[in-house]
Amino acid sequence: MSMYGNRAAGSKKRVLVVGAGAARMSCAHHLAEHPDKFDVTLVEAQDYCGGQAFSIPINKEKFHASWINQGVKGGSYIFHHTMTMFAQQGYQAHPVELQVSFGKGTRFWTNNEIKRFRRMLSTVRTFEVLFALLPIKYLLKIFRFSAEFANVVRLCTSPTFGMWYPPDEISVASNMPPMVVFPNLGKFYTSWKNSLEGKGVHVRVRMEVTSIVRRNKQGIVVRTVRRDPTDDAPHIPNSAWEVEEEYDEMVVCVLFRKKKVLGCAKFADDITVTHYDTEYMKRHYENFFNPEQAVDNLSGINQMQRVEMAKRSFKPMYMIKMYPKDPNKLEMCFDCTNYQAQFPEEVPFGDHIFQTIFLNKSRDGPFLWHQLCHSFTHYLTVVPWMCFLQGRNNTRFAGSWMLVNAHEVAVISGIAAAVNLGAKYPEDLERDRFAFLGFRLYYLLQYRR
Ligand SMILES: Cc1cc2nc3c(=O)[nH]c(=O)nc-3n(C[C@H](O)[C@H](O)[C@H](O)COP(=O)(O)OP(=O)(O)OC[C@H]3O[C@@H](n4cnc5c(N)ncnc54)[C@H](O)[C@@H]3O)c2cc1C
Repeated sequence: MSMYGNRAAGSKKRVLVVGAGAARMSCAHHLAEHPDKFDVTLVEAQDYCGGQAFSIPINKEKFHASWINQGVKGGSYIFHHTMTMFAQQGYQAHPVELQVSFGKGTRFWTNNEIKRFRRMLSTVRTFEVLFALLPIKYLLKIFRFSAEFANVVRLCTSPTFGMWYPPDEISVASNMPPMVVFPNLGKFYTSWKNSLEGKGVHVRVRMEVTSIVRRNKQGIVVRTVRRDPTDDAPHIPNSAWEVEEEYDEMVVCVLFRKKKVLGCAKFADDITVTHYDTEYMKRHYENFFNPEQAVDNLSGINQMQRVEMAKRSFKPMYMIKMYPKDPNKLEMCFDCTNYQAQFPEEVPFGDHIFQTIFLNKSRDGPFLWHQLCHSFTHYLTVVPWMCFLQGRNNTRFAGSWMLVNAHEVAVISGIAAAVNLGAKYPEDLERDRFAFLGFRLYYLLQYRR
């Protein structure tokens, strides 16, 4: 018999929410606003909430701060839902002007191909219907841009950087876009978990859903198992310890493989290395102001003010290394000391801490992150069809993988699943026209309403 098998008094819906990442945390949060309607259980395989969003401790004496956010670090001012969730738990994101440094030495990326890029954009706009679904890498090939330039443009359309900003007047993207850096995500998610428990949500960490026994209009039956308490121990499913549980509805992050739509979702396997190898950084990146690379005139516009500012305080946060032998290959690096708000203004370069992200396991070795790959096939074979799966067999899907790999999208997707189950969209966000519009568009795409 299931641990949660009895229908709660007053016919509340028993909702199982699988995985305590940003998406399902926000789903559980909004369902928990209606204790009369829902009895919510949140099950997470890891021993913490937050999924891909978490912090790690570092040595304060060496690095001048005691923690860094691992992987997920920040976003745009338009992340209204994310920032509202932060505020509700007493946290806030900090403003930052993201300084970038792409390439090194003679391959340091300056704005040579910008003019042609602007011409390409106006052609694409004129014939939008023809170009709409063409992946940017093919588009750039057709217009005969170099592979290096294509790589940088791809970055400018990434969720971490350029996607949220209109093109700059004189360069592909502003070289100091205004952004926000996230607060201590470890602490934030712990506070959020405690607040959910305070509202009656059963949060069960180190508990994995191993299989779905039944899901149809009559309800949901899943098998769960407690994971090994050793940190990061590989889980060896042991059916002897499995428990069958019964619910009315389910919200999942996970994909049921082999199914037509879900089986097409594409993921990239990337590895992030957190390090303090300043020699490596000096060898491969431009970390300091270099007068030879400073551009004092862009498209006829004097840039001396910018150059003077860079002389005083060039602190690159987001850096790119290109591989001359394979221009499709990229290494991406964050100088966490320059970027994250918990570090003091001036820290000697020798005490900086970095995160280098090697993109793609098949080329670069073992992986750590299994994350949504923004391939055009994903947008053809998965995204448009998800609306036909949402709500079927009492199952809803939430997660950033359903649209764009960004924290904000994860939060919105969780709220959307909760609203579709009968929760209310929060009033404070409803008054925020931008947030509400973003939510409505997502809801229309995913739930056809
Ligand atoms: C290296 C890196 C850097 C990033 N940087 C940024 C950034 O700067 N800004 C930004 O906005 N976004 C960034 N992102 C993306 C962002 O972190 C994610 O889009 C978001 O956190 C995903 O949330 P989610 O809830 O969809 O999924 P996840 O966070 O992946 O949550 C899924 C959860 O489900 C659990 N789970 C899975 N299967 C089961 C099961 N069977 N039973 C129980 N539990 C299960 C997992 O353990 C996990 O906790 C980054 C991502 C990575 C990897």
